This record gives sequence, structure tokens and C-alpha cells, in this order.
Amino acid sequence: MSVRVKVRNNRQIIVPLRFGRAVTGDSVVDAPDVDDRGFAMGNRPGTWGSTTARGAMVGITAGDTVRIKVLREDIDDTASLFVTSSDTSVVTVTAPQGALAADGIFSIKGLVDVISVPVKIQVRLGSASGPVLGEMEPHIFQLRQVRVVAHLVSINGTPTSRSADDLVQLFQDVNVIWRAAGIEFVYNQDETLQGASESLTQFATAGTVTTHLDPNPPDYREFSKVINLSPDANGINVYFVQAANEWTGLTYDHDTARPDGYGVVLVDDGDAHALAHELGHFLDLDIHAGEDRQGHHARDDIDSERRVMFDLRRLDSDQPAYRHDVGYGDLVPGNLIDLKDFSSDQSDGALARSRRRSLNPF
Ligand SMILES: [Zn+2]
Repeated sequence: MSVRVKVRNNRQIIVPLRFGRAVTGDSVVDAPDVDDRGFAMGNRPGTWGSTTARGAMVGITAGDTVRIKVLREDIDDTASLFVTSSDTSVVTVTAPQGALAADGIFSIKGLVDVISVPVKIQVRLGSASGPVLGEMEPHIFQLRQVRVVAHLVSINGTPTSRSADDLVQLFQDVNVIWRAAGIEFVYNQDETLQGASESLTQFATAGTVTTHLDPNPPDYREFSKVINLSPDANGINVYFVQAANEWTGLTYDHDTARPDGYGVVLVDDGDAHALAHELGHFLDLDIHAGEDRQGHHARDDIDSERRVMFDLRRLDSDQPAYRHDVGYGDLVPGNLIDLKDFSSDQSDGALARSRRRSLNPF
């Protein structure tokens, strides 16, 4: 069957395929999530340059090879597809050598982080010089390391159940999530005082940080006591506690001066996603995905739920079944660090903003 298409004013395009993660479930370091929110590219930091690309974006740490999957939406499974790079000095296609296999997965290597050299990865029909059916834009980021200082805190004598050893794996898992942004949180267990045990007393409940964030004015005095506990000025201070009455993690970044203080607090239930989310808050991602600047919950569409800065408390089982899994498992929030900035909400463009803050995080 033939389809007649009349494209108007360059504003409509027909794209028979999409790009997505090469895996489902937990984040995998060489299979980044793809920011496929619309075909428009949105606002861009000046250093990215302008592009005529229409499609998804993905972040790659310089030197990494990552897998991405082509999803055939409106094209036969047997159609022969080839993946090419518009600038092989920036990004090369390392696999496959010929046509895409049935699984649709290809590999690209990000070579260098260069200013204002946009590059396109294009999927072509029939041969490597065939017509372009779909395209996406990778961005290459020089790896930036940000030091963290871990504190194991006991409250009224009740300690966190984590050990300094546990934190090695936890930060490794966090770094899998942040890899696509070219940011690595360095927890060096061998440093003196790293993972030190510290104690606080005279809190309302043993083992627990009690806050009342909703009333006006809010009461976060116990949180403030935690984040002012022996802070190291040259790192992100992350305080591990057993529990909190209102949250899994809570973070103020350095916009909040001491004595109120800044730092990250995570409870024992908090996993790598939760810590990656809190570290995002520390890197200037103040607003949750889908929230407006007043912190009011504006949206909880699937795109918002896939973003690492979605407030995980908002995922709820009352939603229709098709919304339970955004690619990471049943009722598990996603780990996408969004590249696109449509200013559709104030949290958009998280990757560029967090990289900017990572130059001056403490
Ligand atoms: Zn949050």
C-alpha cells in the first residue's frame, strides 16, 4: 500500500523508527537512556551549537562506546537499515559493520568533547548511503569527577545499617546512572575520615531525622543539624542515616548557606536511584520533573516519570497498568538525565545544568 504524504512548511516529518535504550530494567553503564521527548531539539546551551537534526539525544562520556536500539515503528522487520555518523572525528559507529541485526542494536563511540560541533547518527535505508529514515544527536562529555565525603550517622544511639564497604557498590551504581552526563562521584574509601561514624543526640526519635516540610514555615532543624555535622569543604557531604519521617533523601545545594547548610541525607531504604536523584539536587537540579517552580506537582506523564529527577513518591499503583513500567521495572522510576530543554517545566535540561554546577559544586 502506498501512502501519500504532504509535508507542510518543514514543520512535519514522517519518521518510521525511533531510538531507545538497548536494555530494560536497571541502568546499565553502556546502555544509556535516550531523551526522545519530541523531535524538536529545544533550547540548547551555547556550547552545543545549532543543528538541523530532528530526533532524540543521548549523552556519552568521551571514550565510551554505548549501545542504542532502533525501534521499527512503521517499517518492515526485513527492511535493511544502516547506521552512519555525520562526523566520524567526533562519534564513530563501531557496530554493526553492515546492516542492523533484527534486535536493532547498534554501538557508537564518543571520541571527543568539542564545542559547537553537532553530530548526527542517521539510520539509512538499503545502504550506508541510502536515504535517511531517522536521526538522533549524541553529545560527548569529558568525564568530570566530583568528590563525595560519606558520613555514617547514628541518632540517639541508633546508627545507619550501612557500612563504609557498602558505599563502594552504592556509588558504583550511582555512577552507572550519571555516566551519560559525563559525571563521576568519587567515593575514595581509603581517605582518612571517609565513611566516618558520627553521632547526634537529642533528636525526637532514635535513628530518625524528623522534619515537617509542609507547614509554613517548615521545620527542618534536625535535617540542618545533620548536614552541619563535620562537613568537608571540598566534597559533597553525604550523610547516611537509618530513617526519616517524611522522605528517602533530602538535599540542599550550596545556594543554601550555612548555618542552614547544604549536603545530602539518605536513609537506609534509599537505593542508587534515590542517591543519584539527591546528587542531582546537589548539582543544581532544584525542581522535580513535572513540577512548577513553586514545587507544585504539575504533571506525571510517562516522560516525567522516566527522568531521574521525578519525585519517586509520585509513582503510584493507582495509575493505569501501562504506566507502571517506564522501562526500569514495575513501579520503578527511570534514570534518564534529560538533555532536551523545552522549558516545559522548570526542571528541563537537567544534564547541561548539572554539568555547569559540577564545575563549582561545593
Ligand atoms: Zn527530590
